[in-house]
Amino acid sequence: MKGVRRTVAVIFALIVFFAMLSSAVTVIAHGDHQCTGAGCRECRVIWAAAQNARALGVVLTAVFLALTALRVRMVRRLRNAFAPVPRTPVRSKVLLLD
Ligand SMILES: [Zn+2]
Repeated sequence: MKGVRRTVAVIFALIVFFAMLSSAVTVIAHGDHQCTGAGCRECRVIWAAAQNARALGVVLTAVFLALTALRVRMVRRLRNAFAPVPRTPVRSKVLLLD
């Protein structure tokens, strides 16, 4: 199960990496073009690639923050679940009655 999760995570990371890389390469490759002014096709391609890279960055940041918050919450719950129960007179009596 852990191996499957790791494989899925690696595949997802590779897909995101290549998507961002292709956007960056597109911006670099089309950056030095003969611009025709308003309505230039190359400029539209550059703009779309830059938007894709920005959107991926925002989504990745949001996913990272959400996973971090979820992990912190789970750690707190586990810590509270395994915390030692204080011995009070009432609790000792309940334990003796059981
Ligand atoms: Zn242009």
